[in-house]
Amino acid sequence: MAYISVCKLCNSENVELRDSHIIPEFLFKNVYTSKHKFIPIEVDGIDGKVHQKGFRENLLCQGCETKLSLWERELSLFMHFLSGGKSNVFSLTTVGSNTVVEGINYDLAKKALISILWRMSISTLQFFADYDIGIYEERFRNWLHQDLPFDIQDFPILVSKGYISGIYQTGLLMPITQGSYGKHIKMESVVLDGVIFDFLLTDGNVIPIEVELFSLHPEGRVIIQNKEYSEYGIDLSSFSRRVKDKDVLDFFSKHD
Ligand SMILES: [Zn+2]
Repeated sequence: MAYISVCKLCNSENVELRDSHIIPEFLFKNVYTSKHKFIPIEVDGIDGKVHQKGFRENLLCQGCETKLSLWERELSLFMHFLSGGKSNVFSLTTVGSNTVVEGINYDLAKKALISILWRMSISTLQFFADYDIGIYEERFRNWLHQDLPFDIQDFPILVSKGYISGIYQTGLLMPITQGSYGKHIKMESVVLDGVIFDFLLTDGNVIPIEVELFSLHPEGRVIIQNKEYSEYGIDLSSFSRRVKDKDVLDFFSKHD
């Protein structure tokens, strides 16, 4: 049955809303929640794809869905490369303990990521209940709707690989909300497919020099750090034990 209402992005009235993804489907394989438990995910036996029915909501008209899918495509290429995929566009250099990735379409990737933060904030789903970016909801909506470019100063995004006790954990999807960068900058974070994205809610203000250096940059590069989840005050030791269990290893091997 068609769901007719107001599109949350373009504000068009009396339009058919799609069953929109809050998190694009390519970004989750294994779901692990802040409540430290697995959500059952459904595997379609025919195409082998993993479906999580809980991450959809009637949000967007078809026109806005199409617009988002263009941005998300760039993000999916980037994520694929990060997980070891081949690419003719991206390049990777190791500098100390960090990894520099170049060749990213900054405009598209940043809009995809900001749109995910925006969707998590406006979502009424319980999984995203802790996301509330307040006044930025409307600002992001307007920014994305008008397809305006983001400057480096506008909501820098830091990218890290998430580790538990020295081991990189692929495939995790997990909310980490309401942190801060230093004392003054509010930060929202999310783990998508094992990669931690920190969104700094600085709006055109001067940003710390290291943020400008490391964050997703208009020149098409980002410096990826390795971070332990314990840095976020999250105790994942029970999860760490669980991944060593045979049933959990089987679970991961089936879904990778
Ligand atoms: Zn729309």
